[in-house]
Amino acid sequence: MKTRAPAGALRDRISELMPELRTDLEALVRIPSISHPGHDPSQLGRSAAATEKILRSAGCDTKIVEIEGVPAVLGQIRAPAGAPTVLLYAHHDVQPTGARELWHSDPFEPTEKNGRLFGRGTSDDKCGVVIHAGAIRAHDGQTPVGVRIFVEGEEEWGSPNLAKFLERYGDELRADAVILADSGNWRAGQPGLTISLRGIVACDVEIRTLDHAVHSGEFGGPVPDALTVLAKTLATLHDEKGNVAVSGIAKGKADPLDLTEEELREQVGMRPGVRLIGEGGITDRMWMKPAVSILGIDAPRLTESTNQLVPSAKARVSMRIPPGQDADAAMKALADHLRAHVPWGAEVTITPRGAGKPYKLAGEGSAYDAMRRAMKEAFGRDPVFMGAGGTIPFVADFAKAFPKATLLLTGAGDPFSNAHSEDESLDLKDLERSTLAEALFFEYLAAP
Ligand SMILES: [Zn+2]
Repeated sequence: MKTRAPAGALRDRISELMPELRTDLEALVRIPSISHPGHDPSQLGRSAAATEKILRSAGCDTKIVEIEGVPAVLGQIRAPAGAPTVLLYAHHDVQPTGARELWHSDPFEPTEKNGRLFGRGTSDDKCGVVIHAGAIRAHDGQTPVGVRIFVEGEEEWGSPNLAKFLERYGDELRADAVILADSGNWRAGQPGLTISLRGIVACDVEIRTLDHAVHSGEFGGPVPDALTVLAKTLATLHDEKGNVAVSGIAKGKADPLDLTEEELREQVGMRPGVRLIGEGGITDRMWMKPAVSILGIDAPRLTESTNQLVPSAKARVSMRIPPGQDADAAMKALADHLRAHVPWGAEVTITPRGAGKPYKLAGEGSAYDAMRRAMKEAFGRDPVFMGAGGTIPFVADFAKAFPKATLLLTGAGDPFSNAHSEDESLDLKDLERSTLAEALFFEYLAAP
């Protein structure tokens, strides 16, 4: 059995490896591997191939497998006798860029500014691939634990085939602990382990008041337009204070940690006069209470609008739901609320748009002990246990496929990483610290 690498040696080794890891990350970011339909699917093939190359050069046996045409990368390093096995997860696909003109640099040309690397996928989640490869390289490909790797290519499209995939390849991926490197840290330089995730339900609500558009001057007054009805309906989703008004949705308490309103306002770029909505602690509202957002409205654009009463209008409504809330029941509550609040007898059609379950992780056991120790060593601070307001549907799939494994949700991003938005970025020091934490985790898990 390989002798234990002391923390100092791993730290030096990873600092030496950083130029290489950064080159790998940049190569991945240059590939526009957007998994949303309508984008060139051959880019997913390119990003899978680039991912495989990085992992192979780190010392893994690798292969690319496809499910429903979407390529995923599998890798492995056999466990030394008696050692535990760890499954490392990341995804090589990315979100679309959104409005290109809002980016300050080309999303697919990695650009460094103030110690951060900007580009689509730098934090979500191409850094996950690089952290896994770096942690393995730090051990020269001879990790003190067995390693299984799974890098999927359709996470940003909701991992529609993941359950099927885990069914087919589950035996190859079986592990004692699973590192899902697709969350983030509490803030740059302050490690965090995500232990709760909200779920999501969404629906489209369509309002119809007329068979066809009519003159707004001639008939306006007694005849309602659909857009006004839609606006009145949507306005009932919150009470006066901004609390979600859909009844029967679970609520809980979260650790307030040290987040202040001031820091949150800065993280999200909130305009000065705008007030936070809802009641209760800020982390309660972000992680353990429901949240409702209107994601989009189909109605005439201003440039196409005329003096007509709009006959129909449609909105997409999303509701985040905390751990403990059943997703199907939440969907029904949302639909019931909308139906009950449509004014003036207007016609309403509600179409569910899918659901993701909330999830709570155990946050304890030997894998957590090892990760807490590793993060403390790598960052110089104890990690905090945090929630995530967002939904990662695959966590429930992994929990179901590997009921005995401990799931750890990590990541090198921070609240300023702007995942899914413009100017996505990654703190390069945190890339190094996160890689060191994972390399140390292998050590500490193998020899507690
Ligand atoms: Zn992600």
